[in-house]
Amino acid sequence: MKLRILGTAAGGGLPQWNCACSGCARARATGPHAWRTQECLAVSVSPDAWYLVNASPDIRAQILAAPGLTPPTGTRHTPLRGVLLTDGELDHTAGLLALREGAALDLYAPPAVLAALGGPFPLRALLAPYGSGCWHAVGAGPLPLDGGRLTVTAVPVSDKRPRYAAGFDAPGPWVVAYRFDDTVTGGAVVYAPSLARWPDGLDGALSGVGCLILDGTFWSEDEMGRGSALAMGHLPVDGPGGTLRRLRALDGVRSLYTHLNNTNPLADPSSAERAALGGGPVEVSSDGMEIEL
Ligand SMILES: [Zn+2]
Repeated sequence: MKLRILGTAAGGGLPQWNCACSGCARARATGPHAWRTQECLAVSVSPDAWYLVNASPDIRAQILAAPGLTPPTGTRHTPLRGVLLTDGELDHTAGLLALREGAALDLYAPPAVLAALGGPFPLRALLAPYGSGCWHAVGAGPLPLDGGRLTVTAVPVSDKRPRYAAGFDAPGPWVVAYRFDDTVTGGAVVYAPSLARWPDGLDGALSGVGCLILDGTFWSEDEMGRGSALAMGHLPVDGPGGTLRRLRALDGVRSLYTHLNNTNPLADPSSAERAALGGGPVEVSSDGMEIEL
């Protein structure tokens, strides 16, 4: 299984267009190689079939930067087969508007998200005239992708709904993580870019995986103000309830943080917090990183 981490920032990216906090100012001064685009993962087990998890407004630049997603010479054809949504947040869905032309993509989301994309954010109705998507509900069992060479299983995470859907009623889960299994090699990864809590099913879903890529939005609970991280739907990295302690206890799993907010000191390679991770199995992902499992 091949993974290409296309984007590693939370909503707004790094630097944010309207911000000059210390993190954004450092990234802006360092230059584009230090920037982070909004979170997205590409997964493949065969060269002509790639699946994305989430589609941010940065999707066009991310696809152009990924060699495996280039159309074969002389063709008007993409190896992109589908997109799986972990939730309905704007920074995870708005990029579908940019993928409307040409390719018939399979689009997967939890039922609550499908309902919201047919309701308060009418993305499905907007895309329907372009004929570019076939929508599928992601339920409890494994789903075959790429002719069965790849399976994906959703792990319910939380019922945190997007701000635009605050008054919209639909049974959850509203946020899921995904486990991908290569049915030929046995390689497996769990991708969990939005973790409001450590879900009951996550430890079980990590059985036998080589890699976990997870929510690194905030280093600390109070980074954006007192008690803000959990209120915004993200377990912090550090602290007694943070994810770092859990990752360090995982045996034989390579863990990478993604979805970093502009305030997170882990985004700065020279920060004390980054140094505190050490050289162990817990890392910070970067745009364009490739992993083979
Ligand atoms: Zn900033």
